[in-house]
Amino acid sequence: MARLLRVRLNPTTFERSTVASGTENPKTILSLHPKASSFRTKTMSHSSIPREKLIRKCRQKKKEEEEEPLGGDMEDLFSEKETQKIRRSMLEWYDTNQRDLPWRRRREEEEGEKEKRAYEVWVSEIMLQQTRVQTVMEYYKRWMLKWPTIHHLAQASLEEVNEMWAGLGYYRRARFLLEGAKMVVAEKEGFPNQASSLMKVKGIGEYTAGAIASIAFNEAVPVVDGNVIRVLARLKAISANPKDRHTIKNFWKLAAQLVDPSRPGDFNQSLMELGATLCAVSKPSCSSCPVSGQCRAYSHFQENGSIPVTDYPTKVVKAKPKHDFCCVCVLEILNQESNQSGGRFVLVKRPEGGLLAGLWEFPSVILDKEANLTTRRNAINIYLKEAFHVEPKKTCNVVSRKELGEFVHIFTHIRRKIYVELLVVQLTEGETNDLFKEQAKDTLTWKCVDSDVLSTMGLTSAVRKVYSMVEAHKQGLSAAPVSSNRTAISRKRRIT
Ligand code: SF4
Repeated sequence: MARLLRVRLNPTTFERSTVASGTENPKTILSLHPKASSFRTKTMSHSSIPREKLIRKCRQKKKEEEEEPLGGDMEDLFSEKETQKIRRSMLEWYDTNQRDLPWRRRREEEEGEKEKRAYEVWVSEIMLQQTRVQTVMEYYKRWMLKWPTIHHLAQASLEEVNEMWAGLGYYRRARFLLEGAKMVVAEKEGFPNQASSLMKVKGIGEYTAGAIASIAFNEAVPVVDGNVIRVLARLKAISANPKDRHTIKNFWKLAAQLVDPSRPGDFNQSLMELGATLCAVSKPSCSSCPVSGQCRAYSHFQENGSIPVTDYPTKVVKAKPKHDFCCVCVLEILNQESNQSGGRFVLVKRPEGGLLAGLWEFPSVILDKEANLTTRRNAINIYLKEAFHVEPKKTCNVVSRKELGEFVHIFTHIRRKIYVELLVVQLTEGETNDLFKEQAKDTLTWKCVDSDVLSTMGLTSAVRKVYSMVEAHKQGLSAAPVSSNRTAISRKRRIT
């Protein structure tokens, strides 16, 4: 059974995270910063309450919270006056300060314009969940040139979509985008124009539905991503764990209260824009902020300089990533008969389901612990024999076998050390056919491509890095060691 390279993305470089509202945890509520003068807690003391009574009490509390109307707990919501002021200030600020981004450009109203805009918002929002705005702009432009409408996208293959997405990471989202487009087009009812119906489309969650519905269809629904959480946490000086489901639910309530019914899309974008620019993770520009007068965190800071606004939202300690190790064997086949200068490289396709579904990579083996060269080569030899019936020196003429170096790739939960070797073998055309004809086609799909094709393929950033080491080696440059890289991204990401 082939063991393949598994690639994930790094959580630290996100432009935006999206946060679905969760179910309640009866013990958790929004609370103020412990250093602030108005600090209060609402945690329940259970020690002296009999178990049955405690369960009844928790159930009752949960029921109350579920039934609680939006404006039920006015202590935690904005006052009407604050709401009006924030709406006005944010929209004025956004009208003059919004960044010029391709997915924000308006065109003349024409038939199908709203659906086109919905598609653009959808694509841009999914891409923005992956990486920074600057990176997304190029991907977005290329994507729209190739698939300008949802109908064009619905005709695409997964392989084409993966190639276009290559380097953005979280390929599952690209797959869902494609499946969602096919679903909408197949149903022939037009683009769903409400958040509730949008959420039935594959790959569209609460955040994306809110963004599309408010921006493209003017529905007064909120959006809550990492940027919005930061702004709201600071406006209300909320120090509760921002990852907690109940806290997230309260962020959704606050965002729903604030969203301006006359310009919901612009208002939602203004909150996200503020979080991405002035109200940054570190060094926020409070003196230029349009809502500094309504910001409790800023007010606390002015009262007591030892409470910086960056204390909000509370930083949650991340779990340490798992360490593992991966041997990658770039297998290059020279063909005696074709007399070509360069060989062809073997690429293996990952399974159609799961992580990095359907993407191509060099043959590789995952190891649980650090291993010396002999152990790594043994592991690769076993894999090559099982997968391709290739046994260096036995079934093929080894031209060269060289270690090219190693690098560290950080995935969402894994810190992976990747060892790279280049194995060049020489075969006759007949031998090539013989070597590969017995492969288990139901468990492994592979192909041989030349360097021209390889250079233009959509490859994951880790695979691309491996190939750049091969190219550097062939050009006589040092290919190793390569420094640690952080390309992995997660929805639970740092926002910039
Ligand atoms: S005043 Fe500062 S902390 Fe408050 S919302 Fe504005 S930029 Fe953010």
